[in-house]
Amino acid sequence: MCGIVGYLGKREAFPILIAGLKRLEYRGYDSAGVALLSSGKDLRVYKEKGKVANLEQLVAGRDLSGTIGIAHTRWATHGEPSEVNAHPHLSQSGRLALVHNGIIENYSALRESLREKGFTFRSSTDTEVLVQLIEYIQQKYSTDLPSAVRISLNKIVGAYAIAVIDREEPDMIVAARKSSPLVVGIGEDNKEFFIASDASPIADYTSQMVYLDDGEIVTIRRGKPIQVINLNNETIDPKIEQVEMDFGKMQKGDFPHFMLKEIFDQPDCIEDCMRGRLLTSKKRIVLSALQLHHKELVEAKRITIISCGTSWHAGLIGKQLLESYCRIPVNVEYASEFRYSNPVIGKGDVVIAISQSGETADTLAAIQLAKEKGAYIFGIVNAVGSSIARAASMGTYIHVGPEIGVASTKAFTGQVTVLTLLSLAIGRERGTIDPETYQQIVTELANIPDKIRKVLKSNEHIEEISKMFTYAKNFIYLGRGYNYPVALEGALKLKEISYIHAEGYPAAEMKHGPIALIDADMPVVCIATDKTLYPKTVSNIQEIKARHGHIIAIVPEGDVTIHKIADDVIEVPETLTCLTPLLSTIPLQLLAYHIAVRKDLNVDQPRNLAKSVTVE
Ligand code: GLU
Repeated sequence: MCGIVGYLGKREAFPILIAGLKRLEYRGYDSAGVALLSSGKDLRVYKEKGKVANLEQLVAGRDLSGTIGIAHTRWATHGEPSEVNAHPHLSQSGRLALVHNGIIENYSALRESLREKGFTFRSSTDTEVLVQLIEYIQQKYSTDLPSAVRISLNKIVGAYAIAVIDREEPDMIVAARKSSPLVVGIGEDNKEFFIASDASPIADYTSQMVYLDDGEIVTIRRGKPIQVINLNNETIDPKIEQVEMDFGKMQKGDFPHFMLKEIFDQPDCIEDCMRGRLLTSKKRIVLSALQLHHKELVEAKRITIISCGTSWHAGLIGKQLLESYCRIPVNVEYASEFRYSNPVIGKGDVVIAISQSGETADTLAAIQLAKEKGAYIFGIVNAVGSSIARAASMGTYIHVGPEIGVASTKAFTGQVTVLTLLSLAIGRERGTIDPETYQQIVTELANIPDKIRKVLKSNEHIEEISKMFTYAKNFIYLGRGYNYPVALEGALKLKEISYIHAEGYPAAEMKHGPIALIDADMPVVCIATDKTLYPKTVSNIQEIKARHGHIIAIVPEGDVTIHKIADDVIEVPETLTCLTPLLSTIPLQLLAYHIAVRKDLNVDQPRNLAKSVTVE
């Protein structure tokens, strides 16, 4: 959460910073701001509540010159979204400007001690404490900016990616990270430099990038190679990586929203995800991670899946796949709970960490804990080069391309696809899946992209159904077996973008309480795509019908029984039970999307949310 961009070079910084903020807006859109600097001129800060577009309006006609600048798009943690709480924050004297992504946990004590020293605070953010502290250290020790930043960061408890500029040292940016991501881009001959929360604002200008590690501080000086030190003032050799990005995938094309585009991207994404891994001619799955770490995976005594949100739902499906085909016990934990528990975990355990962005703060911390206890970490990540991808001992990218819509869609189906491939590959090596079942699933997996294409043809039908629910206050989603996590995911999508309260339950749990909620005003989405559990789900649907609930059923193609009971029916092609989530999910994504559009809500940037959750 929160996006940071910085530039120092030969061009005007402002257009580069604004373009960068737009790429990072998925990380938060509570406010946006920019600080610009050029030798002989004042440090200028412009900031505005709301989106980057609001900032652009604000600055019309203002002095935007400067070849150095830092910028920020905020997801508020401390202090309401407002102009005064927007970043960049200025120090007391106005000589320093700072942008921050993360949380300064000890800000309260630091603020008190700085107040006693005569500092005054304008905002209610945690961040302002840091910029004041750096100025205090500069004054107290008469030190340069890089040293003041290092000394200050040693007094900070919490998470940060920061960038600071100093009016008195105008050809310099100092940036640092701990638990929040930061990338440095290096232009040709050290003539220009970029910093950003991810590579997307940089990749148009250079492919030479350095991903900072935790506790590293980088000093960028005009015309000089970057210098990296750690918090102990030891010099670090920066590891320059070659990073390319495909921006074609970051365009909406003819779609009105990224979310709809990403829903429709799914057949291609799943093909990309399986490419080179599902060898249909040989009827085999080949995963390089399994080849390289065969023993750890195949001999795992237990697997713990850690993740958050949508990825946690993918994890629940992963548990069923891994237990069915590998016969390895699997726990699925919320990363935020796992990291503060006292888990019984150690050598011989495999931890699978799932995260779209690869930057989820809680998942990263949970990985750290599991690693310290001796577990093997397997990452399932979308963002190449992200912190989780680098922290894992091994892993598999889902390769679905950048996901811009804040509500995750294609990353979910990509994660489920990878978990399916992994379960089948490990199961085969362990001999816990019978060869016939293995062959059947491998063959059917290759058909899934086309079957999703078919589901997408129901888009207009689902749009029609959605009209009825613009004013709904609550929704219930029911599923069994592999489709119970799909019910949870369907409910989450609706909450995220339609702001309608929704709950997902295992269908049979209804009668243990939630059925009391059913009346004619309660829409209930019932997923009945699993052939083995179909008769049981039909009974659950009858129970709801008897209480006049409005039923929207997701059924296998050609279904007759549920058509007679349900109010609305959406058909999906038949497939093997373990693959049904890849199809059942699609209508639920579309339903949430169309309801949100009908309510005239911002589906790509829903309120209060941001995509890359880099705070705990
Ligand atoms: N804690 C800072 C603020 O509220 C930064 C928030 C973030 O990185 O999400 O302004």
